[in-house]
Amino acid sequence: MKYDRILIRYGELSTKGRNRKQFVDKLRRTIAKALEAFPAVSIEAKRERMYVLLNGEDVEEISKVLKNIFGIQSFSPAIKLERDIEIIKAAALDIVTSLYEEGSTFKISARRADKGFELDTNEINQAIGGHLLKNILGLKVDVKNPDINVQIEVRTEAIYLSCENIAGAGGLPSGTSGKAMLMLSGGLDSPVAGYLSMKRGLEVEGVHFFSPPFTSERAKQKVIDISEKLARFNGHFVLHIVPFTTIQQLIHKQIPENYTMTATRRIMLRITDEIRKRQEALAIITGESLGQVASQTLESMYAINDVTNTPILRPLITTDKTEIIEWAKKIDTHDISIRPYEDCCTVFVPSSPKTKPKKEKIQYYESFTDFEPLIEEAVKNVETIILKREENKINTEMDSLF
Ligand code: ATP
Ligand code: MG
Repeated sequence: MKYDRILIRYGELSTKGRNRKQFVDKLRRTIAKALEAFPAVSIEAKRERMYVLLNGEDVEEISKVLKNIFGIQSFSPAIKLERDIEIIKAAALDIVTSLYEEGSTFKISARRADKGFELDTNEINQAIGGHLLKNILGLKVDVKNPDINVQIEVRTEAIYLSCENIAGAGGLPSGTSGKAMLMLSGGLDSPVAGYLSMKRGLEVEGVHFFSPPFTSERAKQKVIDISEKLARFNGHFVLHIVPFTTIQQLIHKQIPENYTMTATRRIMLRITDEIRKRQEALAIITGESLGQVASQTLESMYAINDVTNTPILRPLITTDKTEIIEWAKKIDTHDISIRPYEDCCTVFVPSSPKTKPKKEKIQYYESFTDFEPLIEEAVKNVETIILKREENKINTEMDSLF
């Protein structure tokens, strides 16, 4: 007997009362898109749970994809059976026999969503447990910590049998929290900030500032490779690449050196905000972490943030570098981020940037130059690329993350 479906549990979704329908719809759509490579599967979405009907597709391969989808608390390969205790006995014996190794322990966990079934949960546990013990020599019961947990769920339409609970990625389904723009450099921090935002249900689009020839094609490729990693979670990732050379050169000509970094960040934020409007997003995400570098002091954030009222989300603001590195390793962006190619900010970085810039001063320095036409020009010349999930790049080691 083979699994014919995967039962998906929503976790945090269940607590979302009113929005539930929207949540279930978004999750269903994300899963359908993520499983495009398995044309035979179909999805049955219900209020309490969802079923991926395998129709002969490979359960292991599909499980790998499901592990990366936000909004899934856990999932179990399962079989749908008729409401007949003899049929359940036969199916349970089949599956437990296939999972049994010498000395394995088991327990039966029956649940009745439909109390009308002829046996109560205790009677089901005894009937199935007795049948397994009689037929599999050496099998032992362990109700606390069994190797095989045979879950039997009695519902009005059928009975579902499963033996494994696989942890999902948790979080909320893509898009249920709205859309935000992620300022994505090639560094370690911003990809992690993007990942954490996606986990909370944000649809995230990346914005990267690129200054050729001061930054090379390889630096740009780094960001594309990182975006491809981020595409695993929701099936695709949109990346906007902003040509930034002319503006950076102008900043260096017009702004006193110790304020160039502040000016650069302010203009990056203004441009990102323009792209945000165009893309109908409501927030901007950065990888900033308090005190990490000169631009990440409170004074600096205050002076930079001055250019917009748009909410700026900083998921990493209170995290230590070591924690960020761990996350980066788990989401598989670490090795790309540490490739030694220059970022536009490292090329132009002044020898001693102001760690406590004054808002009034930078406003004054900027007031001699009209950056607006160049900002419009940069927004107009944005190159947008869409990265797709690459099935064979799914990192199964990510299990440990969740
Ligand atoms: P990261 O590891 O993300 O590069 P960082 O520690 O290098 O961050 P900064 O260089 O001060 O810190 O950058 C702070 C934030 O500004 C980044 O996390 C990112 O959100 C944004 N940022 C920096 N450079 C760029 C860039 N070239 N394009 C887009 N966003 C950028
Ligand atoms: Mg950086």
